[in-house]
Amino acid sequence: MLKRLRELMAEVLEPQERLDRVVAQIATSMVSEVCSFYVLRADGVLELYATHGLKKGAVHQAQLKMGQGLVGSIAATADPLNLSDAQSHPAFRFLPETGEEKYHSFLGVPILRAGRSLGVLVVQSKKERIYAEDDVEAMETTSMVLAEMIATGELKKVTRPGLELDMTRPISIDADGYGGGVGLGYVVLHEPRVVVTDLLAEDIDAELDRLNIAVKSLRVSIDDMLSRRDVPLEGEHREVLEAYRMFANDRGWRRKMQEAVRNGLTAEAAVEKVQSDTRGRMINLSDPYLRERLSDFDDLANRLLRQLTGFTPSAIATGLPEAAIIVARNMGAAELLDYPRECIRGLVLEEGAVTSHVVIVAKAIGVPVVSQATGIASLAENGDSIVIDGDDNIVHLRPATDLQDAYADKVRFQAKRQEEFSALRDVEPISKDGVACNLLMNAGLVVDLPQLRASGAAGIGLFRTELQFMISSKMPKAKEQETFYRQVLSQAGNLPVTFRIVDIGGDKVVPYLRSAEEENPALGWRAIRFSLDRPGLLKTQIRALLRASSGAELRIMIPMVTEVYELEKTRKLIDHEVEFLSGHGYKMPSKISFGAMLEVPSLLWQLDELMAAVDFISVGSNDLFQFITATDRGNARVSDRFSPLDAPFLRVLRTIVEKASETNTPLTLCGELAGNPLTAMALLGLGFRSISMSPAAIGPVKAMLLSLDIGKLQTELLRSLRDTKSGHSTKEFLINFANENNISL
Ligand code: PEP
Ligand code: MG
Repeated sequence: MLKRLRELMAEVLEPQERLDRVVAQIATSMVSEVCSFYVLRADGVLELYATHGLKKGAVHQAQLKMGQGLVGSIAATADPLNLSDAQSHPAFRFLPETGEEKYHSFLGVPILRAGRSLGVLVVQSKKERIYAEDDVEAMETTSMVLAEMIATGELKKVTRPGLELDMTRPISIDADGYGGGVGLGYVVLHEPRVVVTDLLAEDIDAELDRLNIAVKSLRVSIDDMLSRRDVPLEGEHREVLEAYRMFANDRGWRRKMQEAVRNGLTAEAAVEKVQSDTRGRMINLSDPYLRERLSDFDDLANRLLRQLTGFTPSAIATGLPEAAIIVARNMGAAELLDYPRECIRGLVLEEGAVTSHVVIVAKAIGVPVVSQATGIASLAENGDSIVIDGDDNIVHLRPATDLQDAYADKVRFQAKRQEEFSALRDVEPISKDGVACNLLMNAGLVVDLPQLRASGAAGIGLFRTELQFMISSKMPKAKEQETFYRQVLSQAGNLPVTFRIVDIGGDKVVPYLRSAEEENPALGWRAIRFSLDRPGLLKTQIRALLRASSGAELRIMIPMVTEVYELEKTRKLIDHEVEFLSGHGYKMPSKISFGAMLEVPSLLWQLDELMAAVDFISVGSNDLFQFITATDRGNARVSDRFSPLDAPFLRVLRTIVEKASETNTPLTLCGELAGNPLTAMALLGLGFRSISMSPAAIGPVKAMLLSLDIGKLQTELLRSLRDTKSGHSTKEFLINFANENNISL
């Protein structure tokens, strides 16, 4: 049958004519009086597009909703139905226009693509019989050809005006956004599904051989991965690979693919068919473990497809659309940086959280990003239009024109605001009542550096040196680190840069420095704890920083300090390196400023000793807040449960401000709180005069500052914090204050 279908596909025919001939051919091959082809429309209705055997007048008239009747339930469950007497099935729904009452036996299969039902293919006959297993297989195989016809858009020409097919249906998906604004553009699948165009086998034995060879080499490559030294003996990574190995060795999987080849598909079409069937059946599972396994299975099938077709994803090589929105299940930070920045309008991930490296990097380079967009990578096709809204936490795939227009307006508005902010670039950051403030930016990559001038920041308040480590596939060598820091300093010119010693560990995993899995990584072996235990690594970094800053000021900051002795130990190492390098004739920095991040609560009870041990303090409010409130910052369930604008946290911050001013210690805050005009306003009201934020936030925060009477806010905010009866959250107070005083938020 497939051979004949292939000929039909190749003939020059009008689409309806082709469909009519296809269904007639299937009816003959399946020895059935009827063959009907239903297609799912965007409004969730399955419409009869062609039939052989039912009344012709029913074509484009007969319709069933998704889930309704036998056809509707096949589409909804993605499962075939094989019945000897269709009319006695409880789901049967009689469609008088079709004249189908004469027929008893019924076999319907879903038409699937990437696990999505696009329609249903049915054969019926008068005689009561159950179709054989082989018949079901043959129908499923045939339905792939029809899926291809739908996906290529051929049926658009026979779709009634005003209606759309489901393939082009707009979909909105809730996601986690990070306030990065709106991105508008066209889907670029990071790992595009391999599009199998060669569906029908010429030589079945040769295809079976190809399939077997590909499965074998897939198994070998997984075994190789498992035996590599950098895969730890236990842990998540290994579990995933073990699951892969289990699937790759699964006889059922292989048998199903072989059967599909025997039914006339090429090896790659067989892989796709089995993948699509499995997806279709598993897609509605809610068990997270099984869903995870489904992803493993998808990955495996994709690997196999790549092997068979020799396909390598080359979106980057073939050129991106001008407004590309990258869609991925997940990706590494370095992979994002492989795309030309000027083409990227956004990033959508199925996985990922605020602390994922790729999310950190996307934010750092100012790309709007959303994560946890369930199913996006299989629902989207390359080139689909898409809108991501990082403020409203939503993705709109193939949005309706009015929605797209509304967003285009929003983007224009954003751009206009951005223009207004750029106009503030050279305006001194002084409040309405004459208080000068220091607005710094956070950075960590070379791509961030041009932002320093563009944003009008007064310097880099936090340079996350671990990002360079995170995006490298191997440990950056001493010389590479030095060159990198030199580049940062030279671009910064006379503006100060505060380098933070690597904050590795916790959520910031560096593959080549992997240690054993930890149950509570945020509280584990990370940052300075890790660096002090790996003095070789720490010394290399210190040496690189010292050499890069020769003749200039080096500002060096220590993350996750818990006790003051950790600072003393680090300082000793620095002194030792200074002595060593000067002894070898290197020119040292003109000044070394030594600072600590205040992000572990225990330091709150050592403030005097702490301030005495450093030249400056920077509050890491992201970590400090997660530790003070015992809420994991990467866990969406709890991370928003308490607010940093609640009185307890603001009182903590105020204590720090008071102690810093008492001891004359320069103080900055460099967590996310600094980058939102409302929370930044709270910080200024608490007495902070130096804050460091993402470059895109400098403009909006400066606009707020210019319109703010800091003295007035400070008096009122501190009064409200002292007054235990005035309520717990200061958010409402701050919003009212801003409204009453015309503050630009
Ligand atoms: C913080 O914890 O607030 C901080 C700035 O450091 P990071 O976000 O890199 O942990
Ligand atoms: Mg931190």
